[in-house]
Amino acid sequence: MSNQYKIETKCIQSGWHPKKGEPRVLPIYQSTTFKYDTTDEMGKLFDLEEEGYFYTRLQNPTNDAVAAKIADLEGGVAAVLTSSGQAANFYAVFNICEAGDHIVCAAEVYGGTFNLFGVTMKKLGIDCTFIDADASEEEIAKAFRPNTKVLFAETIANPALVVLDIEKFAKIAHSHGVPLIVDNTFATPVNCRPFEWGADIVTHSTTKYMDGHAMQVGGAIVDSGNFDWEAQKEKYHGLTTPDESYHGIVYTQKFGKKAYITKATVQLMRDLGSIPAPMNCFLLNVGLETLPLRMERHCYNAQKVAEFLNAHEKVSHVNFAGLPGDKYYTLAKKYMPKGTCGVISFELKGGREAAVTFMDGLKLAAIVTHVADARTSVLHPASHTHRQMNDEQLAEAGVSPGMIRLSVGIENVEDIIEDLSQALDLVK
Ligand code: PLP
Repeated sequence: MSNQYKIETKCIQSGWHPKKGEPRVLPIYQSTTFKYDTTDEMGKLFDLEEEGYFYTRLQNPTNDAVAAKIADLEGGVAAVLTSSGQAANFYAVFNICEAGDHIVCAAEVYGGTFNLFGVTMKKLGIDCTFIDADASEEEIAKAFRPNTKVLFAETIANPALVVLDIEKFAKIAHSHGVPLIVDNTFATPVNCRPFEWGADIVTHSTTKYMDGHAMQVGGAIVDSGNFDWEAQKEKYHGLTTPDESYHGIVYTQKFGKKAYITKATVQLMRDLGSIPAPMNCFLLNVGLETLPLRMERHCYNAQKVAEFLNAHEKVSHVNFAGLPGDKYYTLAKKYMPKGTCGVISFELKGGREAAVTFMDGLKLAAIVTHVADARTSVLHPASHTHRQMNDEQLAEAGVSPGMIRLSVGIENVEDIIEDLSQALDLVK
């Protein structure tokens, strides 16, 4: 789709471009296979000599249309959809790492990502060093090793709400000859487009704002096409040297700027198969159509709620980059001038016990293991998403035992504040 269009238009129009007589709305191609007339026709597809659909584990028209829309929203050259945000982060890294390699990652990332990189990928022989996203360039640089392949962080960390200095991270990554991968789940491309600030690859848990209605679990990996893999030929040999499983094709030579996403699709999805169902991609696409409208309301409501909580006598601290006193206010204004997201984290003066009383007293907001959908919800990270971490790891991740994560929905903000207020009244 033409780059002249604004993001609101792209959210509606990108991805699916029906020809004469075809359905106006993106159809659900609920088919595992696609038919051909000759053996040779299908053979060419297996050799990547020709483009075409043959098996949904590799590609499906519904999934591809939604991937194209997300690539367009981020300003990337190509995208692949995955069955979850976890899968997106795993494959984004695994596409360019193997046993013996090392990655550097901001410690404040989502608990699931922390486990994935710190525990599970270690079992595959890929080591991770976690660093403080706010540390100086010099400090972060110390974590790099000759075998480091990736620098990874979140635009707005879940749930510490650390806003990433994307330009600083891009500079550090590039000075070490590695790509910067940014998980842009919370900001969404409506509020921040990391490629414009030097990030090379973006990932998403599309389960969150992109879907927005908590209807499907999904993920996306988008490539800017800007990282020069050939300039680091040895380091990224999976992209720059022959793939024996495709009769020796070299991804960078055959697919140019689309090499990274093509490899993730035709090699990783072929072999490991974490693709989303076409039905889920259809639902995700419906969500994407209203993403700009919803983000605007999420940000408006969250600002009002953060101001209310900040002024409340029982609240000791509020993390929300829209508050002028917040540590990340200035960075957020630079990278996300339209607003950050609808997620707020805060502490009650009464600590963990007060947090439990407050949460159990809520009537409109529900306790759910989810954030970033239309309904207001709360969660206690220390007992839920970050439960596997010890106190030291919790502190590194910016999570205190009494922290409450509040995902402000798009209901009327007066009703949300009324609910919070009555629950706070219950706290002694
Ligand atoms: N990245 C971020 C920032 C998240 O918040 C989450 C989940 O909360 C994930 C990745 C994992 O996504 P999923 O739950 O879709 O696997």
